[in-house]
Amino acid sequence: MNITQSPRSADLRHRLQAFMAEHLYPIEQELYLAAERLGPWEIYPYIDDLKQRARAEGLWNLFLPAAHGPDGLSNVEYAPLCEQMGRSLFAPEIFNCSAPDTGNMETLLLFGTDEQKGCYLKPLLEGQTRSAFAMTEPEVASSDATNIASQIRRDGDEYVINGRKWYTTGATDPRCAFFIFMGRTGDADTDRHKAQSMILVPRDAAGVRVVRALPVLGFYGVPDRSAEVVFEDVRVPATNILLGEGRGFEIAQGRLGPGRIHHCMRLIGLSERVLERMCRRASERVAFGSPLSEQSVTLERIAQARILIDQARLLTMRAAWMMDTVGNKAARQEIAMIKVAAPAMAQQVVDWAIQLFGGGGTNNDHFLAAAFATARLLRLADGPDEVHRNQIAKLELRRHASNNGELSGSRATGLTLAEADAVASASLWPAPVRGPQRGQAA
Ligand SMILES: Cc1cc2nc3c(=O)[nH]c(=O)nc-3n(C[C@H](O)[C@H](O)[C@H](O)COP(=O)(O)OP(=O)(O)OC[C@H]3O[C@@H](n4cnc5c(N)ncnc54)[C@H](O)[C@@H]3O)c2cc1C
Repeated sequence: MNITQSPRSADLRHRLQAFMAEHLYPIEQELYLAAERLGPWEIYPYIDDLKQRARAEGLWNLFLPAAHGPDGLSNVEYAPLCEQMGRSLFAPEIFNCSAPDTGNMETLLLFGTDEQKGCYLKPLLEGQTRSAFAMTEPEVASSDATNIASQIRRDGDEYVINGRKWYTTGATDPRCAFFIFMGRTGDADTDRHKAQSMILVPRDAAGVRVVRALPVLGFYGVPDRSAEVVFEDVRVPATNILLGEGRGFEIAQGRLGPGRIHHCMRLIGLSERVLERMCRRASERVAFGSPLSEQSVTLERIAQARILIDQARLLTMRAAWMMDTVGNKAARQEIAMIKVAAPAMAQQVVDWAIQLFGGGGTNNDHFLAAAFATARLLRLADGPDEVHRNQIAKLELRRHASNNGELSGSRATGLTLAEADAVASASLWPAPVRGPQRGQAA
């Protein structure tokens, strides 16, 4: 595995670090307060100015994959940049690298027609608009995407869309220009993996209604502008379909891999920052005559946090390297593993930090409450832990099904009777001989 950072990636990381120290950290508290005061339906101050500045400095669209062109970065190159951005919940948007836009941009890059790219992708790449991804539905268990029940029905040169979605991140943002909407084009007889399609729906199309903003553990807007959205007889041109009818799963596979790993990379940055704060606080705060850093429980937690973060980073880098070298499909087990490991790690590290900060850990003075909500929500968003674990285990079972257990020393069949007798006679407590037994010679 080669995860050596390239000079270009190292330079970009250094510049991101300097940018965030100069322009973002000093106003971060103000941004959180503004987000709370303005709510999920408004644009927060400073963001647009910072976006322009970031773009002018070449710190823009860093997520663009190497396959996109000469400026694109590999996943191994992008990972440390994403980690750096993950240190602040506001940073990804400033560098035009935030979810769900990056996933939507990649989808359009990979599967969009020229017309779709011109209309929907270009303004996103320029940072003029935002977007949303509408798959999850309140009425069905959406962790199983085959359950998605919304309808996309062809009517002449148009599609008619009906459905109720929720947890549609970004829908309350005034700059949200469109949704990538997932729904059924197939009927009851269609193969369940070919029944879903994705289609582009303008936010201002007649029949689209953002019903309500949804808080995430009490937070509105940051870390997530979630919303419930209803689509009632929405008509869009037939050319808005992505890739064609029944191709929704194919697109989801291409879209979700990179998106998942970006979340994990950011969580590592978030956890690093939290651990740093935790160490500083532990050294400064005195209880019962000694700094908290001298309590063995604090040392234990700091050490364990260091171990967990480094484990998660190595696993993430391995997934990144696999995606670069063998592709997203072959790397799906690694992607699923890190999707489980990184949020669990971040949630634990932030929880220890909250405990160490005492009562002050539960307000957002040190951004710990928002960090906790972020880690926790990512155990659900992009699929719940359990579904990823199922996939990991199924791939593991498949891998070993074709292995020769004799060669690998992992035979799992029971002993034959002859083998059991051999074990018995060689063991410390063989069965005592009590005269002739049935089936044995006298
Ligand atoms: C803050 C936030 C932002 C989100 N953003 C978006 C977005 O932008 N677009 C979008 O479409 N969706 C988004 N989601 C939705 C998210 O992807 C779903 O919540 C998730 O996929 C689970 O679907 P569900 O809520 O319908 O839960 P359900 O499918 O009802 O599952 C409920 C629970 O059942 C258990 N479970 C399910 N399947 C299994 C299984 N096979 N084995 C064992 N246990 C299982 C799990 O514990 C799971 O959490 C977001 C969610 C959150 C919290």
